[in-house]
Amino acid sequence: MKKFIDSNLHITSWDTIKPYFDDLQKRNIDTRGALEQWLQDRSDLYETLEEDLAWRYIRTNQDTSNQEYKNAYVKYITDILPYEEEAANKLDKKFITSPAINLLPSVPYGNMIKQTSLKLKTYSQKNIPLLAEMRQLEQKFAEIVSPLSITIDDKELTLQQASSLLENKDRAFRKDIYQKIVEKRKSVSTELDELFDKLVKLRHQIAINAGYKNYRDYKFDELGRTDYTPKDCHKFHRAIKLNIVPLVKQFYQTRKEKLNLKTLTPYDLSVDIWGDTPLVPKNILDDTIEAFSLLDSQFGNFISTMKENGLLDLESRKNKAPGGFNYPLYKSGMPFIFANFAGNFHDLQTMVHEGGHAIHTFLTASLPLVEFKEFPSEVAELASMSMELISMKHWHLFFNNLKDTNRAKLRQLENIIEVLPWIAMVDLFQHHIYLNPKLTPQERRNIWNEIYKEFSPDNLSWNEFEFYREILWQKQLHIFEVPFYYIEYGFAQLGAIAVWKNFTHNNKQGISAYKKALSLGYTRDISSIYQTAGAKFSFDQQYIKELVNFVNTQKEQIEL
Ligand SMILES: [Zn+2]
Repeated sequence: MKKFIDSNLHITSWDTIKPYFDDLQKRNIDTRGALEQWLQDRSDLYETLEEDLAWRYIRTNQDTSNQEYKNAYVKYITDILPYEEEAANKLDKKFITSPAINLLPSVPYGNMIKQTSLKLKTYSQKNIPLLAEMRQLEQKFAEIVSPLSITIDDKELTLQQASSLLENKDRAFRKDIYQKIVEKRKSVSTELDELFDKLVKLRHQIAINAGYKNYRDYKFDELGRTDYTPKDCHKFHRAIKLNIVPLVKQFYQTRKEKLNLKTLTPYDLSVDIWGDTPLVPKNILDDTIEAFSLLDSQFGNFISTMKENGLLDLESRKNKAPGGFNYPLYKSGMPFIFANFAGNFHDLQTMVHEGGHAIHTFLTASLPLVEFKEFPSEVAELASMSMELISMKHWHLFFNNLKDTNRAKLRQLENIIEVLPWIAMVDLFQHHIYLNPKLTPQERRNIWNEIYKEFSPDNLSWNEFEFYREILWQKQLHIFEVPFYYIEYGFAQLGAIAVWKNFTHNNKQGISAYKKALSLGYTRDISSIYQTAGAKFSFDQQYIKELVNFVNTQKEQIEL
């Protein structure tokens, strides 16, 4: 089939791609055939552009000191993207008003039509300058937080580096580190209150301009949330409070006993209670290929193919950006995995997580439109979080002995449970804030305190750090930079537990359902995708209880 975009197209400026947008804008799409061809061509254009931008982004992350890479990336963002977004908005309008749109079948097109309508619904000309102002304000968060560092033994550490020292066995040392981190955060807390105050007011105005009553309702539409409402989020919060918080309390109790402490404090939560030596997984990449192959030969092949094509950059080194991601390359049909391995347990978690995203990219590569290959996080994270859990079956490959393998599994299972109350808190807090945009910073802190008490076990003592508790929310980047985007991880985590449960019950059926669900891409709604995976997209208390009990039973079966 002839492609719309010349494979030699070299994108150097907006002018090099403008003719393609013009062509699409001018074309007649009044018949189903013409419309489908138009969608195909538009997708070909978007795939080309997205892959071009992907490489610019990946290269600059691989070497932040390379000015040429940086310029190439910034040039796209500042000189091309704004024109592209405006032109894309016009194409969306053309699509949604095409008389042939009603002739498109709801599978696979239904989601895409719904999402486009929501995008147009939240769009308001009046908001263009406000959105630009908001993006600038959002950048301030990083400007305030990223220079923060503390000095330990004459070494300057970022707060992230410092917090890994909280795994140290020496309690007095941990307390000292914690104290230093807390004081650093406190030193910018007023500034962050003020920044957040501006953001809340601006976001409220943006919602009003777009015809909404409040920012929460605006944001639900803007995020394309068609499968659940704020009411469902509250159901989820309640279920977490009733089923997860008591379990975390139980974990804390065990921790307290194992560490032989009178009171458990926030600086006692990271130290490993099952062993003295750090967990160091061996040849992570090759072992992952083997582990994935044992689950399904295709999974192993996907990662091998990436290895052969140089699509993995895993080791940490100087001038490499922090973090890790799987970046789909839609035109090539393969992804790129970027990570910063540091020789610890977290590397393994990252590899199997990003590996799950990579499998998703491969399984959807042949879908006809790019819109079917771009998934909302509720779906994307189901792929990655499920892989974290089902790959555990073969984690012995990464370690020298059974004890370390089991320690790794215990940590994984505690992690996935302990994060759920935090997700609920971060989400619930934002519901309160945006429904009451006139609150003062102190009133916001009070609300956070109330929420925190509700979702945190009472056997954790904050005595000396009471003042820090009320600003804990300030360490969550999402609250400042990507409002309301967070609960997705909670939903996906529950889905992943269900996938793992099915897998444990019947390996073959579990994998087959997982593959089938991933292969759907975004051609069905979220509920149907979860259902295909053998999970429910549900916030029902009984269901959540069942899942959590399963995790706990599995955990109790692991013997050290
Ligand atoms: Zn992910």
